[in-house]
Amino acid sequence: MQSLIEHARTFPAKIAEHGQDFTHLARGQRPMAAFLSCSDSRVIPSLITGARPGEIFELRTAGNIVPRYRSSAACGVAASLEFAVKALHVPDIIVCGHSHCGAVQGLMHRQSVESLPLMKRWLAGAGHTARLAAPRTDATGDAVEVTRQHLLTQMDHLRSYPWIAQRLTAGRLRLHAWYYTVDTGEVLACQPGSREFRGL
Ligand code: ZN
Repeated sequence: MQSLIEHARTFPAKIAEHGQDFTHLARGQRPMAAFLSCSDSRVIPSLITGARPGEIFELRTAGNIVPRYRSSAACGVAASLEFAVKALHVPDIIVCGHSHCGAVQGLMHRQSVESLPLMKRWLAGAGHTARLAAPRTDATGDAVEVTRQHLLTQMDHLRSYPWIAQRLTAGRLRLHAWYYTVDTGEVLACQPGSREFRGL
């Protein structure tokens, strides 16, 4: 923790030292995309994308879960999405799942979250039970496949938000499903119109 405090304490000096000017950030934000990823400490959106302050609007949840739209139920994800889409007018939303995801493991093996009642309820909002149509014997391969299916389910949930659906139809918004591998840094993207993931 001390290293985090030390970095934060000296951050203004570091900005100045590297000749970086943040003053324009006080005038507002116009991010080029909303980036929804897992809260996992190994997934760092700005590190993956190279985004500078003001360039991506981040939402992070356990398991990069997007609850289905419910007009009467406000939650942090829905409210943040509403702000990004309707107030900031982001033209792109990226949902980024990742390898070795604890939340996906929780979806695959419910007993692993038995002692975490809130997580158990949150995972119930993932919209599926993470069962493969044809499970493989390779546990690692299963996890990759389940993570990708899980990601595509969250994309379907995004489309359930009426103001997202409207903008998709109007061509004013694009959705992207990315899969990040934590031990190699590789990013794969789901190809438009298919469920296949390939390199960017
Ligand atoms: Zn995760």
